[in-house]
Amino acid sequence: AIIAQEVHKWYASNKFHVLRGVSLEVTKGEVVVVMGPSGSGKSTFIRTFNALEEYQKGKIIIDGIELSHDLKNIDAVRREVGMVFQQFNLFPHLTVLQNVTLAPIWVRRWKKEKAEEIALQLLEKVGILEQAKKFPGQLSGGQQQRVAIARALAMQPKIMLFDEPTSALDPEMVREVLDTMRSLAQSGMTMVCVTHEVGFAREVADRVVLMADGLLVEEATPDEFFNNPKEERTQKFLSQIL
Ligand code: ATP
Ligand code: MG
Repeated sequence: AIIAQEVHKWYASNKFHVLRGVSLEVTKGEVVVVMGPSGSGKSTFIRTFNALEEYQKGKIIIDGIELSHDLKNIDAVRREVGMVFQQFNLFPHLTVLQNVTLAPIWVRRWKKEKAEEIALQLLEKVGILEQAKKFPGQLSGGQQQRVAIARALAMQPKIMLFDEPTSALDPEMVREVLDTMRSLAQSGMTMVCVTHEVGFAREVADRVVLMADGLLVEEATPDEFFNNPKEERTQKFLSQIL
């Protein structure tokens, strides 16, 4: 589970108050979709959940571990939280299989054979087993993003964060990635997804939240969020994307 309470963050470089008291709770097995205009702080917010971003005020507790300055806690949380980015961030000089086994071998200290066995299972699960020996540059965008998902899952995370995982993809590849995410959700994974894929949010999300200007302005079931949004800010946002 994720508990974020009144989180504030200022970017040090320009003293910009990017998160202005954001609270969100995500319980085990829940899928939360985060939407909102560009620059509203969505990426910054979810990156605080695995300590890719620091915050200065408030509290974040991931699976009972408080994310503080304690490096031990940061390490523990990073092991529990997988993340998938818009730009797949695969290692180009490693094969698909090596991309997926790297962290389990070096961080989890698994034997190569065990890491490969589990990696192959995951590649099968995301539908790209036959690409295992290829390099990322030889795959389509959708295939690369599924490698990135398998790579995150190889660390056996309890929580998965997705930051606009389909927005760099050609339209025909979006579906295969969303299908992979949907089946992950159905398997009971706790997920926070920044995405503007309305169909995915409607079908898969338990809750949808709108972030604007560093605040969560609305939080609702998908049905309420899309059909009957309460806040003017949400109505305005939806009128731009629907
Ligand atoms: P998008 O939809 O475009 O991805 P976002 O909601 O994810 O936007 P963030 O990337 O979290 O927004 O950025 C929020 C704000 O913080 C933006 O105004 C951005 O310019 C600013 N910002 C982001 N990173 C930094 C940084 N390293 N230093 C200073 N300001 C930053
Ligand atoms: Mg972003």
